Amino acid sequence: MIPENELTRRAGVEMDERIGGAVVDDTFSTSIPGMFVAGNVVHVYDLVDYVSQAGEKAGSSAADYIRGKASYSGKKVKTSAGKNVRYVVPQLIRPESLKETSILLQMRVVAPLEHRVELIVRDGEKEIIRKRLPYARPGEMVSVSLPQSVYDVVQQADEITVEIL
Ligand SMILES: Cc1cc2nc3c(=O)[nH]c(=O)nc-3n(C[C@H](O)[C@H](O)[C@H](O)COP(=O)(O)OP(=O)(O)OC[C@H]3O[C@@H](n4cnc5c(N)ncnc54)[C@H](O)[C@@H]3O)c2cc1C
Repeated sequence: MIPENELTRRAGVEMDERIGGAVVDDTFSTSIPGMFVAGNVVHVYDLVDYVSQAGEKAGSSAADYIRGKASYSGKKVKTSAGKNVRYVVPQLIRPESLKETSILLQMRVVAPLEHRVELIVRDGEKEIIRKRLPYARPGEMVSVSLPQSVYDVVQQADEITVEIL
């Protein structure tokens, strides 16, 4: 269950060595302008439906890029894995995206949790989102959506952290 990245590595894309996949932002743009990736080249998915969703997003982002509709020079905020989170994808988010749509963060936990599980997204000590989960297991991806309403907070952050306790 390791991302296949022969082509992305050869292209010189920045990689996330913790998971062996390409570093992407919320549009699935890589570190090479105009190169978008989605699916198992980013991180190993458990359900193909999420891959389709990511592929659709990467495709529409690539179309926007070709048409010159999107700017990729704006601020990017890092997402980081806090307590009991192994990694978070995308690794970068563009606050500007929140003006138009919500942003989906996906992750895997380190240790399984079965009761009273909570996912918290923070900017330092400031809590941005808190979500109750029925359970969290390393074998199943966990998702949380950043709604458009958090634009102001994210816009001012340098890094946001996700923890699952
Ligand atoms: C054993 C197993 C069972 C699964 N069961 C389910 C299930 O029941 N339900 C479900 O929803 N999901 C399931 N999944 C997950 C699902 O298969 C994946 O999430 C999905 O296939 C990932 O899609 P992808 O397009 O990113 O990658 P892939 O489907 O792996 O497609 C990548 C393609 O790129 C090709 N490729 C790689 N390198 C190169 C290269 N250099 N040049 C040209 N082509 C290249 C590969 O040959 C491959 O065809 C399962 C996965 C596994 C491993």
